Amino acid sequence: MTVSAPITQDVLTIPRKTPETDRINLVGLTRDGLRSALISAGTPEAKAKMRAGQIWQWLYERGVREFDQMTNLAKNYRAELAEIFSIEIPEVVSRQVSEDGTRKYLVRIAGGHEVETVYIPEEDRGTLCVSSQVGCTLTCSFCHTGTQKLVRNLTAGEIVGQIMLARDDLGEWPEPGRNPRNETRLLSNVVLMGMGEPLYNFEAVRDAMKIAMDPEGISLSRRRITLSTSGVVPEIARTADEIGCMLAISFHATTDEVRDKLVPINKKWPLADLLESLRAYPKASNSERITFEYVMLDGVNDSDADAHRLIELIRGIPAKINLIPFNEWPGAPYKRSSNNRIRAFADIIYKAGYASPIRKPRGEDIMAACGQLKSETERARNARRSPAPD
Ligand code: SAH
Ligand code: SF4
Repeated sequence: MTVSAPITQDVLTIPRKTPETDRINLVGLTRDGLRSALISAGTPEAKAKMRAGQIWQWLYERGVREFDQMTNLAKNYRAELAEIFSIEIPEVVSRQVSEDGTRKYLVRIAGGHEVETVYIPEEDRGTLCVSSQVGCTLTCSFCHTGTQKLVRNLTAGEIVGQIMLARDDLGEWPEPGRNPRNETRLLSNVVLMGMGEPLYNFEAVRDAMKIAMDPEGISLSRRRITLSTSGVVPEIARTADEIGCMLAISFHATTDEVRDKLVPINKKWPLADLLESLRAYPKASNSERITFEYVMLDGVNDSDADAHRLIELIRGIPAKINLIPFNEWPGAPYKRSSNNRIRAFADIIYKAGYASPIRKPRGEDIMAACGQLKSETERARNARRSPAPD
């Protein structure tokens, strides 16, 4: 494997608390859901919309986690709220910081399950890679997450909670009345490219992203959120209609024969169906191109003929192609294509008029790079589980 022993600059272990309570967690409710929750808890209907708006701003604009700090609500109302509701986000069990500044959070959700969230600082942006499921039902043969069975879907609160915990760690809740523009933020972009297939957890992902986009809260522009799917064709149009974010497709192969092996969901929705759904994608335009992710696997999908076929296949779709050097993991059945091969492949695509950036692996030393998520979770879990020597 190319990944050497983890070089960790900073491992922070935070004591666990038990987040499970019988109170209703407000984090993750949509605006309407929050309003209804307040009404069912006794807030008069005529006031509920305004109260929901106030609480919403405390939660998502200011990052407040205690009802008592919601100073524009009456004291007794705050106390009533605290009896019925809670404000909970997933707990950071550990944080690792890579040599290149990438931060990987091991995040504990209800039931004791764990997912990983990765923050990637770059010159012009800071991207948070968010998980949507514990494990994955799909079994893409080059993906480490795919070797872990689906344990459960994350809730909307657990998905948006990953953005909130990263903002906590980055110290990025704005001062009152100040909401920095997207481009000057440390956390300016979100990619749904962590563990899981987001379109197999559609409603929770949608609600979480709606919360993240709400202008009276985290207020991320929809163009700064990218959802990556392996190709769940029936849900692709819904992504444009109901979320409106940018779309990335884990394409990875140019024939059904190879894609069946790499991305087995291709047997259900083969290339022709996938491409048809992308041609019809309502939001695609030159300013909102669809990203085609293409993992470079030595001798499997990286020939000149593949590059030419790829160009033919996507003809007519406003697209950019993101070449991902394969990130190896223990026991992986593939090798990364050589740098020369990747460059030659990129060149063919570039000459055909497509942007073809090569994704720089980030956080490899802490196993935070694409497709490596899982092992560290399991390693950490095993280490914690192993009985202490007497
Ligand atoms: N399930 C979704 C989103 C998560 S994966 C999807 O498949 O699109 C995010 C991206 O990382 C996908 O393009 C995925 O194919 C890619 N990936 C998975 N394993 C990888 C690996 N070992 N090396 C490089 N990229 C990988
Ligand atoms: Fe699941 Fe995406 Fe990995 Fe495939 S690449 S197994 S869909 S997480």
